[in-house]
Amino acid sequence: MSERPSSRPPGTPETLVPPSDTSHPGVMLRGIAGSPGVAIGPALVVGDTRTAYGRRHIAASQVDGEIERLGRAVEDAKRHLREVSARMATAPMETSAILDAYLTMVGDPMLLERVIKKIREERKCAEWAVVQACEEVGKLFSPADSIERDAYIVERSHDIEFICDRLLRELTGDTRQIVPNLGQPVIVIARDLSPADTAGMVREPVMGFVTEIGTRTSHTAIMARALEIPAVVGVADALSAVRTGDTVIVDGLRGEVVVNPGEVIIEEARERSARHLAFARGLLSARHQPCVTRDGEAVSLKANVELPAEAILALDHGAEGIGLYRTEFIYIDRRTMPTEDEQYELYRAVVEAVAPRPVTLRTFDIGGDKFASSFQLPAEMNPALGLRAVRLALSRPDVFLVQLRAMVRASFHGDLRIMVPMVASVQELREVRTLLGRAMQEVDVAGHGRAKHIPLGMMIEVPSAVIMADVLAREAEFFSIGTNDLIQYTLAIDRGNRSLAHLASPFHPAILRMIRQVSRAAAAHGVPVALCGAMASDPLAAVLLIGLGLRELSMEAAAIPEIKEAMRRVTTADCERAAEGALALDTAEAVEELIAGTFAPSLFDLLTGTEDGAYAAEAGLAVEVSTVTDTSYD
Ligand code: PEP
Ligand code: MG
Repeated sequence: MSERPSSRPPGTPETLVPPSDTSHPGVMLRGIAGSPGVAIGPALVVGDTRTAYGRRHIAASQVDGEIERLGRAVEDAKRHLREVSARMATAPMETSAILDAYLTMVGDPMLLERVIKKIREERKCAEWAVVQACEEVGKLFSPADSIERDAYIVERSHDIEFICDRLLRELTGDTRQIVPNLGQPVIVIARDLSPADTAGMVREPVMGFVTEIGTRTSHTAIMARALEIPAVVGVADALSAVRTGDTVIVDGLRGEVVVNPGEVIIEEARERSARHLAFARGLLSARHQPCVTRDGEAVSLKANVELPAEAILALDHGAEGIGLYRTEFIYIDRRTMPTEDEQYELYRAVVEAVAPRPVTLRTFDIGGDKFASSFQLPAEMNPALGLRAVRLALSRPDVFLVQLRAMVRASFHGDLRIMVPMVASVQELREVRTLLGRAMQEVDVAGHGRAKHIPLGMMIEVPSAVIMADVLAREAEFFSIGTNDLIQYTLAIDRGNRSLAHLASPFHPAILRMIRQVSRAAAAHGVPVALCGAMASDPLAAVLLIGLGLRELSMEAAAIPEIKEAMRRVTTADCERAAEGALALDTAEAVEELIAGTFAPSLFDLLTGTEDGAYAAEAGLAVEVSTVTDTSYD
């Protein structure tokens, strides 16, 4: 632990506390709840991680030597990442998946070609060329005209920053670890922590993380959740407001960081931490028990996954299968298309890991806010309304057939279903069915095995699909309602726009009517219907969905134990009564109030992440957590 600096830099918040003031509230910093739990301990501020480097112009005779130096740095960076990966043999699978992705990125030809061009044509030294090339690539992930950048894209630009820093460290010989060896349990405060840095800390006594940048989907948050370490991310002023040695409370339930509070506040936080631990343990212990309502109605809870490695995590949280595998993530972060064999291996691994439970693979949903450089899509005025998802797939049958064949082959290994995103007309579904038939034939001709029948279903996430649900139900073998997009397209609110997020409510009566319409159309045709939008992971919204007739929900793995518990505490009759009442109301606020008024008393601990009702009520948590308005990835 380093010495406390004697004075704080100018313009930063004061820690106003005489230590003797036991009731001092401390300095409060707000961010995004990255990983649940409450940690209290001394801060270790790890500062800005960018390595210093010199900018030099080089002579023509030095060009080849500089390119060789770059090549060695790339190899060294790869070796370093492999070493970290090997040391992490027992770490959660997401961590190694992220490290593997970095391994690919560090040797990405698109990046290296740019660097070499700068060395050769602009005669810049390797360090300078690396930084400039990374900045250019980073800009591809940072559209200047987008105020509210998609969280996923923001994360990709952080990945580029990490790769840049890794290469710089190899070139300059700066092999310091960002986080020094830690002698005692600490709370790490950083601008950002790369997976490699976090990996290096796995066996160190880190009690919590606070980062300045990042979202709920940032890698620090993903790993903090996997390691079950409380984290708050996106705390804009953390580095200037916290000094090494300050006492810090990290409240990953509320997304709050408290710096140097008095003993009374610390004691409260300790109690909250203990209650959360007991609460989380209680929920987890029941995660593998069946999910049934109090009156015995079975509800199937499945997981949404983006990375193949998450399949295991899903099972570990009690998922009955994978309800949504967002395969577009396979196409992102690369310049060339994934091959049939490559995709087949990934799908097969997931299907085998989850067997005999079902896996629903969604065909790629690229375009809109999900940018994939491998497709080289032209810029569009309105990408959310542009060449996206099934439209893009049907416009590129060559690429789509590769994915379909890989899926068909993977069907040989378990219970696999195929789901089509953003279907707006029955014609699109028919065209996909024709292509799927062709993919099956081609797989047969190539002599591969496959399931005799592969169910083909669709997302309901465009208003026209809701209105035509009865017609679509004659041809789709299952539906899954995607409320993230359905809310966006129905209420005309960009799902990534934080300033309008409060209006994008899943409790809007128009959304409730749509869900009921789809659930009735599906029931009339005997078509299974699930819901896989973010709405499913909110306990209050989930009970409302049961009232609207749904019996299958798919959500992020971490939410499953909690939603299971919510289901066990309600009866379908209560849910149906509340849903009927909600459908008669005219505003989202009135609906939310009704549902909260009906169910919050029995679901209070689930809504607040603590059993301490009085404390949470005082903090206004009941109202806050009952509002699921953010349908973007973060
Ligand atoms: C949805 O739109 O609700 C959905 C689940 O799909 P995605 O979030 O991947 O667009
Ligand atoms: Mg969607």
